[in-house]
Amino acid sequence: MTTPRREPAIENVPLPEEKVDAIQRGLLGWFAANARDLPWRRTRDPYAILVSEVMLQQTQVDRVIPFYERWLDQFPDVTALAYAPTADVITAWAGLGYNRRAVNLQRTARFVVEERGGVFPSDVADLLALPGIGPYTSGAIAAFAFEQDAAFIDTNMRRVLHRVAFGPDVPDQLRHDREVIPVARQCVPPGRGWEWNQALIEFGALQCTARKPACLICPLRPECASYPVILGALASVPRGSRKKTESPFEGSNRFYRGRVIDALRGAASAGLSLQELGAAIKPDFTDEELAWLLGVVSGLVRDGLAQTARTVAEAEVPYDIAEGDTGGGTTGDLASVRVRLP
Ligand code: SF4
Repeated sequence: MTTPRREPAIENVPLPEEKVDAIQRGLLGWFAANARDLPWRRTRDPYAILVSEVMLQQTQVDRVIPFYERWLDQFPDVTALAYAPTADVITAWAGLGYNRRAVNLQRTARFVVEERGGVFPSDVADLLALPGIGPYTSGAIAAFAFEQDAAFIDTNMRRVLHRVAFGPDVPDQLRHDREVIPVARQCVPPGRGWEWNQALIEFGALQCTARKPACLICPLRPECASYPVILGALASVPRGSRKKTESPFEGSNRFYRGRVIDALRGAASAGLSLQELGAAIKPDFTDEELAWLLGVVSGLVRDGLAQTARTVAEAEVPYDIAEGDTGGGTTGDLASVRVRLP
């Protein structure tokens, strides 16, 4: 394990020191008593931490655990993932959704293997330079793999810090991230970045939840700028009003992108013709929809999730679909297009 590094001191410290001490004591004490035993908390392998963090984006902890364990059996290290056929990577991701995450994960692995000799950097700035790694993930790898005192926030961590430092986050957040992030930096106890950030994540997931924070048994209550008004504020927010307005998923292009990938996962390596693919994803598919389907497929090709080829006189030749190309050819032209996993 490497020596913990500290983030540079910040100016304009936003919270009084005694309040920070009390928050740190309260949260770390709570974590010691309530931490779940999660597989990614038993490792300091940056590759495994990266896998867990990518899987945990948009997927619940309980669902991620079996996927994480199977993934590490199949792709035990960054080299194994980098050299795996992309089709195997996409197939192994089945059931987690948002398939681009799998392709991006492999892209990061390939960069680490090809450009950095298979060794992950330990600095937030260097991690941030890896393809597919954003501010949250770079902080998480620095803290959870290299035990650095990194400060970073996701939705749950932001909610806890905002409530404790500034007040209720409903009906709207009072403060911008540029004010919340300095609080995150200030609160990391020196030398305890791993523990602190795990605690903050766990606290947001189990105690200070979005809709039902357990304020009455909260160790941070004396320090919390939201207590007790948060309970009334949440009660006044009509149910469902904080949910994002999303277009219905079924029938959307995202829905059909997922169905195309599922169909290709179940197909032989030669892939499927556009007509076969259409019939597999839509029971009432007609030839009039081939151009639309080619548009869906072209988006998947751009994201590295699919490949296309055109069958010409029994031979396959690469068929590059230009961005925004939705076919434009005749039904006969489109019938020669085959689609498969990369
Ligand atoms: S008192 Fe309530 S709002 Fe404040 S940190 Fe605790 S659970 Fe969250």
